[in-house]
Amino acid sequence: MTKPIIEVKNLAKNFGKNEVLKDITEQVDPGQVIVVIGPSGGGKSTFLRCLNLLETPTSGEVDFDGENLTTLDTKRVNELREEMGMVFQGFNLFPNMTVLENIKLAPMKVKGIDDAAATKRAHELLKQVNLDDHADAFPSSLSGGQAQRVAIARALAMDPKVMLFDEPTSALDPEMVGEVLNVMQELANQGMTMVVVTHEMGFAKSVADRVWFMADGYIQENNTPEAFFGNPQTERAQDFLSKIL
Ligand code: ADP
Ligand code: MG
Repeated sequence: MTKPIIEVKNLAKNFGKNEVLKDITEQVDPGQVIVVIGPSGGGKSTFLRCLNLLETPTSGEVDFDGENLTTLDTKRVNELREEMGMVFQGFNLFPNMTVLENIKLAPMKVKGIDDAAATKRAHELLKQVNLDDHADAFPSSLSGGQAQRVAIARALAMDPKVMLFDEPTSALDPEMVGEVLNVMQELANQGMTMVVVTHEMGFAKSVADRVWFMADGYIQENNTPEAFFGNPQTERAQDFLSKIL
């Protein structure tokens, strides 16, 4: 049996009296692509942020690669966090740096990789996201789709074991969604472990190994995309799908 890369056990998160995550127990195996879908406000972003402890769980446990994050000191949590790349809706590129510099920064500063090696790797990653011709551009000159692909390359530059995506295409003009999803699909094909919060049902159907439907603080369904979209089990999921499909 493969050892899960992420294990979540009885995870709960409250913001004051608001019980956002109530009792979540799930696991992610190496190489799996999990797509998390569900209504707005259902706790998807909070859940992703609990996976790398950007949010501190109220109770429960998050294990990453066999280590219980909730018991570790800040130094170790930071080390493990480097192994989880995260891509958000907004791209958060450093505006005063070129695309290449954006990608090289963390590997050089955090990992101590030398300039030549970081540059070589950054160009490889830019080729992977089809942007090597934009290496010397500044973020302000990029389209949203290009900026998001740079953000993905930047996350990959730390050689993460897992990539977490929080609605990576939600802020994009429709014609740019495809180029970002294509890059994500290729990453999945290469075997990257991914947890993706998205409303792109086509992506969920064609790329996900498992769909997790999250609403009201629980993962209400965990199923293959075929089973989930073909025959959702809960009324909550049936209602959600009837509104978006
Ligand atoms: P989703 O990503 O599914 O839309 P979120 O995780 O962003 O859901 O939000 C779930 C709930 O948690 C919402 O009611 C939201 O207002 C609340 N929430 C999220 N982050 C915070 C925070 N930092 N402080 C207080 N409440 C928050
Ligand atoms: Mg969200």
